[in-house]
Amino acid sequence: MTAFAALAGLATALGRPWRTRFAPAPTGWLHLGHVVNAIWVWGLARAHGGRVLLRIEDHDRGRCRAEHERDILDDLEWLGFVPDDGRGPGGRLDFRQSDHGARYAAALDALDEARRVYACTCSRRDIAAVAGGAMNEETRYPGTCRERGVPREATAARRVRLDDGAEAFVDLRLGPQRQRPSEQCGDLLVRDRHGDWTYQWCVVVDDRDQQVDVVIRGEDILGSTGRQVALARLLGRAAPPRYLHHPLIRHPGGAKLSKANRDTGIRDLRAAGRSPAEVLGMAAQASGLVSERRAVRVEELAALLSVSS
Ligand code: GLU
Repeated sequence: MTAFAALAGLATALGRPWRTRFAPAPTGWLHLGHVVNAIWVWGLARAHGGRVLLRIEDHDRGRCRAEHERDILDDLEWLGFVPDDGRGPGGRLDFRQSDHGARYAAALDALDEARRVYACTCSRRDIAAVAGGAMNEETRYPGTCRERGVPREATAARRVRLDDGAEAFVDLRLGPQRQRPSEQCGDLLVRDRHGDWTYQWCVVVDDRDQQVDVVIRGEDILGSTGRQVALARLLGRAAPPRYLHHPLIRHPGGAKLSKANRDTGIRDLRAAGRSPAEVLGMAAQASGLVSERRAVRVEELAALLSVSS
């Protein structure tokens, strides 16, 4: 597959190993969907000259829990996923987004100077009323506060003004993509009214500052990639990372796996006596990387992702 050939050539082009990241949000337990992502991240890195950075995405202070972080780290270790970067001496975690508010603020200041940032007092209900329907992640912000000159003191919420126009990028697995962020989501919320930084903002600032060359994640986030490419450019990143979106595993019937689904939680599979290789095998089979149910050792992942049919 050309995707994998492109990754193999990247280390040579950069003159160093390329860097990718595994970036769980500690809002719940580790589940099989995460394991699929880890298989792609570590497998591709090990097969094609990459390094894996561990980043804890705990920007949402209301939903993240220290015990989830502890359990995620413990489950990853149990499964045999060892990051190359992001863990210091004695396994201490090196990077947690909640420790980096000053860096997200500095990045916002830079865009503010370029007149890209405005304060926004719209509630979710206000936005839903204009959009005419229930509000979700993909509801387009109609631009209500864009020209209103809302005083900075009125709210902590900030949006970044996006240009019209399409973003084109090549997904290393799915091929050329074209998205129009100004129509999909409108001006992006980068800090909410509680002062929390948003996923879209943290991830782009971090991928820039941590020199992440390749982003490997599930297809459920594909729709966010154009807006992240646009933000990366506004933040002065010369070239955005390469992207690879892998298939998601689903419950029979098509529902997406979620952290609430206890049947696929790694905690529960461990408690039921499964071995790490059995759990890796379940995830590898569910995502089509092996055809039959069998144990998969972590050392085999490079071979599974070195060629693709
Ligand atoms: N923190 C996100 C998650 O847990 C990962 C998003 C990304 O890889 O950009 O799903």
